[in-house]
Amino acid sequence: MLCGASRAAAQAKPLAGTDVPQIYDRLLKQIEKIPIYDNHSHATFPDDSDMDAMAAPPDESSVLRLRDDNPEFVAAAKALFGYPYADFKPEHAKWLIDKKKAAEASGSTAYWDSILDKLNIETCLANRVALAPYLDPKRFHWVFFMDSVMFPFDNRAQAARNGDMGVYIPLQEKVLRRYMKQENVSGLPADLAGYEDFVRRTVEDNQKKGGVAMKFEAAYFRSLYFSDPPRETAEEIYAKYHAGGVPSADEYRIFQDYVFRVLVDEAGKRNLPMHFHSAVGIGDYFSMRNGNPLNLENVVRDPRYSKVKFVLIHGGYPYTLDMIWMTAAKNVYTDSSLMGYYVYPSELKRILKQWISLFPDRMMFGSDAFPFNDAVGAEETFWLAARSARTAIAAALAELVSEGAFNEQKALELARMYLHDNAAKLYGAQ
Ligand SMILES: [Zn+2]
Repeated sequence: MLCGASRAAAQAKPLAGTDVPQIYDRLLKQIEKIPIYDNHSHATFPDDSDMDAMAAPPDESSVLRLRDDNPEFVAAAKALFGYPYADFKPEHAKWLIDKKKAAEASGSTAYWDSILDKLNIETCLANRVALAPYLDPKRFHWVFFMDSVMFPFDNRAQAARNGDMGVYIPLQEKVLRRYMKQENVSGLPADLAGYEDFVRRTVEDNQKKGGVAMKFEAAYFRSLYFSDPPRETAEEIYAKYHAGGVPSADEYRIFQDYVFRVLVDEAGKRNLPMHFHSAVGIGDYFSMRNGNPLNLENVVRDPRYSKVKFVLIHGGYPYTLDMIWMTAAKNVYTDSSLMGYYVYPSELKRILKQWISLFPDRMMFGSDAFPFNDAVGAEETFWLAARSARTAIAAALAELVSEGAFNEQKALELARMYLHDNAAKLYGAQ
């Protein structure tokens, strides 16, 4: 028993009281003032192909909140730009599109800084193929993609697996060609040692260019379960296919598992956090089982990697309880990106309440700001994500305060950890 704590307030109650709305109002007023550190975004103009290493396959099904007729997007455009219309009919949307095109044509970094300022976002990670000249490097820090080095061989069988892969694979090949050009590699090196050297140099140079983390969208292509094959096996596969020929599914997977281990090793050496898409995903063939964060347990709990920081983004949604328990490992973090606009604030409140009651020092805000079309851009999704997160965390904490879990001062400290401090500590420690 903790005798020293015996004079603390009574045990927390399972029901919140009638004072929740008042506590919520008081907390929200303070929470609005907390500058946000955004762990994951795709800050971009909609016609910039560097915004992501992926593209949405056609005809994918969208969650209700992200459909074009969500009135919250009109509210976002009004709040950010004074948009004078109540819908996005083409003749109205033109007003907004013209404004954004003019900002893009100016080439200045002031525009995106001003969007962050309006939402009180201090720092923002930009997950992109390359950083854009219109993003201020003081505010936007680059997270680069590394999946492409897992696809060096003839990918015809991979691309033929389904319609989604038919869209994704050529884009991975494009990023790989770009990295080969960056490293002055004209063709695949003659042996695995040469290829590993190319992979490690790519990571090194991306970090030198300002990269603060490397990102994997692997869950879209394969399981997040990575085995630990011996180097000789990877060497044999590389020798067999580097000059041509289509590897079997098993051979390709084993080779990828090996290259992945090289990347984890390099991330540890360079103190570069690794970001993973670990949640549901877009497309018609996404496998929830493959994207489940529990697949990574053998990697994040491997003593060889205890110094590597693993950031499992999108909260593992819908496996959010599994996710927060993954962060019981001291080198694992998660964020509320994507799910923060997939669900409405009432549901986000429920998830954040669970998280903040367990490991408040491992959870971060992420917007996953992304352009949905020429009118509804990353600007509006920044707004939606930031508004949703501030209100949801205020509501979660108001309930906990009313239930007697802790006082309002402690609640604000926890809110600051989620919205800013945990991320600032993770990336600032580099
Ligand atoms: Zn994203």
